[in-house]
Amino acid sequence: MKRLDTARLLVGAAIALAAAAFAAPASAADTVTISGRAYAFNHMSTYLSGATIKVREIPGLSATTDANGDYALEVPDDANVTPYIDPPDGYNEIDLQTFHTRGEDIDNANFQTPGDAEYNGLAAILSVPIDAATGRPAYHPAVLLKLYIYGYLNRIQSSRRLERETQRNVELIWLTGKLMPDFKTIADFRKDNGCAIRQVCAGFVALCRTMGLLTQASVAIDGSKFKAVNNRDKNFTRAKMERRMAQIEESVARYLQQLDSADRQEPSDVLKTKTNRLKQKIEKLKEQMRRLQVLKVEMLATPDQQISLTDPDARSMATSGRGSGVVGYNVQVAVDTKHHLIITHEVTNVGTDRSQLSSVAKQAKATLEVENLDAVADRGYFSSEEILACENAGITVTLPKPMTSGIMAKGRFGKQDFRYSAEEDIYICPAGERLTYHYTNEEHGLVLRRYWTNVCQSCAIKQTCTSGKERRISRWEHEHVLEAVQRRLDERPEKMRQRRETVEHPFGTIKARMGATHFLMKTLPRVATEMALHVLAYNLTRVLNIIGVRPLMAAIRA
Ligand code: SF4
Repeated sequence: MKRLDTARLLVGAAIALAAAAFAAPASAADTVTISGRAYAFNHMSTYLSGATIKVREIPGLSATTDANGDYALEVPDDANVTPYIDPPDGYNEIDLQTFHTRGEDIDNANFQTPGDAEYNGLAAILSVPIDAATGRPAYHPAVLLKLYIYGYLNRIQSSRRLERETQRNVELIWLTGKLMPDFKTIADFRKDNGCAIRQVCAGFVALCRTMGLLTQASVAIDGSKFKAVNNRDKNFTRAKMERRMAQIEESVARYLQQLDSADRQEPSDVLKTKTNRLKQKIEKLKEQMRRLQVLKVEMLATPDQQISLTDPDARSMATSGRGSGVVGYNVQVAVDTKHHLIITHEVTNVGTDRSQLSSVAKQAKATLEVENLDAVADRGYFSSEEILACENAGITVTLPKPMTSGIMAKGRFGKQDFRYSAEEDIYICPAGERLTYHYTNEEHGLVLRRYWTNVCQSCAIKQTCTSGKERRISRWEHEHVLEAVQRRLDERPEKMRQRRETVEHPFGTIKARMGATHFLMKTLPRVATEMALHVLAYNLTRVLNIIGVRPLMAAIRA
């Protein structure tokens, strides 16, 4: 990073000097004039008026051609200048040669720019791809991908800002080889190439594996909520909708009451203005209510009874802070515990992590191409079915069980105070009694075996055990899998600290890069593309920090 930072400082200084130079008006002796005429290609009697003549090296300079297609442009002396034409509609942008100015004006710097028909014909002969939107040669995807990776590394994720930076940021001018795509081209690349961008992200992880950076089959899994473009006020759940409607009704009632009391007062101009204002407010609120009623019908028709107006895929989600929440997406990651590289990630709009464990862990295992994988997660992922699915897939998970039962809060024994004996298939209670198997039933899709003893009524410590007739213990048919998870956690409690340190690194870095902002794109597939760019930028920085630039370049070329 030091090398990059130094480069950035130097580049910053260069930009400052250049800016100062361009800001100061040049004296007559410091400039020369480039002049000429703009024609239609092969039609020398067709002059192009209203075309803009610019200089690649100096974005601020421009001149417009007159009715005869003539222009004159003052440029710095002793400098490289490449004039180009930004022509009227129907013609195509072309560059003249690069001149080095040597104290003399340059005349007859004429442009002959082809019309669309000739241009496309020539392009077809030369097999040059044409951008369907602009009719100009398409940018190579590598240029636009480089631009985005640079942007995501440097907190410039917006296509408009990237367009500006390609014109003034020396690092980017070098990186793109002076190409300056417009913001729409930049935005469309991200919008239309989501699948390919996600493949590049996955390809980089595969490269990390071949470089030997992912030798440990051990990952930490975590999720974090990221804000969507959708504002909280533009998201409605059933509760929010009812709250908002109640607020409107309350406000209408208050204004009606004020109108009633105004009616009882002596008429005056001031009173008339006040009543008019109140009537307007009431009308506005009624309009809002009508809109909400329409939205309510739409909202109730959705599967999760929630509607987001700006980004339809964004969902209201609770975050760790008490009473706080975001309208956004839940990003799941599996992070390698040694180098903190993101092995796999997935953007979901499900607000909880409970159903995510096995899918993320299986993806990580497939990416690492290992037989067995160790995965550690927090208690938010605890789900019996998910843990069993991991076990069946050769993934050893370690995670704590959430204490959701209220029984311990009441000062009574928890299930962990009852010891299971596999040989006898019984539980031994804190009083030393044997709870035997009685029957099996199904609850929430889980097959549960029930155990109890008939001596509870005469037990001396019954009040600290149960308020019922007897204490019953349930055992899931695959309970041994959950017991193994608990055993692993008891043997290696430090794994939880390791998990926190591992996952905080990528999320902390990515969120710091995003700043206080949020995803810029809408809908799940596009947000997934944006996240892939964040992950790619993060992993790239990690690898550069771990092995340095040269070994990485060598591995990419290999
Ligand atoms: S109440 Fe029943 S299960 Fe609980 S400690 Fe007493 S005998 Fe054991």
